[in-house]
Amino acid sequence: MVTEREAGPASLTVEGLTKRYGDVTAVDDLDLELGHGELLAVVGPSGCGKSTLLRSVAGLVVPDGGRIALGDTVVEDGSARVPPERRGIGLVFQDHALFPHLTVRDNVAFGIREASGAESTARVDEMLELVSLPTYADRYPHELSGGERQRVALARALAPGPSLMLFDEPFASIDHNLRVRLRVDVVAALRATGTPALFVTHDQGEALAIGDRIAVLRRGRLAQIDTPARIFHQPTDTFVGAFMGEASFLPVRDRADGDGGPAETRLGPLVDGEVDHRTVAMVRPDDLLFTADADGDANVVAGEYRGSGWLLTVELDDGPTVLVAASHLDAPEPGAVGRVALVPGHRQVPVDADPDGETDHHDDNEHEHEEHRR
Ligand code: ADP
Repeated sequence: MVTEREAGPASLTVEGLTKRYGDVTAVDDLDLELGHGELLAVVGPSGCGKSTLLRSVAGLVVPDGGRIALGDTVVEDGSARVPPERRGIGLVFQDHALFPHLTVRDNVAFGIREASGAESTARVDEMLELVSLPTYADRYPHELSGGERQRVALARALAPGPSLMLFDEPFASIDHNLRVRLRVDVVAALRATGTPALFVTHDQGEALAIGDRIAVLRRGRLAQIDTPARIFHQPTDTFVGAFMGEASFLPVRDRADGDGGPAETRLGPLVDGEVDHRTVAMVRPDDLLFTADADGDANVVAGEYRGSGWLLTVELDDGPTVLVAASHLDAPEPGAVGRVALVPGHRQVPVDADPDGETDHHDDNEHEHEEHRR
């Protein structure tokens, strides 16, 4: 994990990047810095500007304003532009087609055409080793699975020794189990070569798994950029909190308005963090425990099976509805009455209420869960 920046210029600096398409501002005055060897996952709802950001860095989109530098080389500043092929950037896109008539070796060697025969052979072998396909050099793309093709695309992009890698949904068309293996290998290859990367994904789990940091975009702007743990557990607002995973938001009462007592919700006091009139308290399903109790003040209204457990929707007597994780062994049935409490050691997190109330952004990957309501 890269936490400390090394001395010297950031590997990528984006300042005031803006790109408009007619009335749509796809990227809106965006600033971003990438450390040495850092892997930044870029997430956000469909249409928030992820691809436009990536393609601007690659030089495939001409921005309306802003500055982009790779190390201390300015590649875009409104007046001067370095063309894409001279930026020293490696690209892996979802549909980054390999040349069908070239073998794996020739595909990987394509970006290092200037190398001598022996040099090129050695470099291709090294890259195929790196992506765990050492014996595949003589195959053609049609003889590869989707996952293997993406490994070859990665090897081809890494062969010239790029100063930055850009990934745009590279595993979107690959099934879940293989995707998990692939991303472990991609991260290992980036670490082994010390190559920094921007990795666009619509999959929050993928972003949490691979990012040294995560940038959450919203309408072309940065909603939050931080470590995966802080993005997930200490989101700045309800938009980021809800986007990154299931969450419930509870109204905060007895705010610091004179009596000096701590702010609290119906689940208890808020232990840390500043509270003001916009603050609500976030809890994730695993922060909460439902206990059956005939005298309780909470009702289970629905349960969704998740394999490893159940996700309960529980209505609290005084209004709010919360999501509560329950074991697969003894999940209560809908209609069950009981109490909801914080799991010992877990906290309610104060977050800003999203001014637009846009908290329900689970994007397009919800269908991955086999839904089973009872
Ligand atoms: P994301 O990758 O987050 O889904 P995009 O960067 O593709 O978002 O798009 C951001 C916004 O810009 C969207 O509203 C999209 O419709 C618009 N947009 C992107 N590319 C074009 C284009 N070539 N022409 C017109 N509008 C575009």
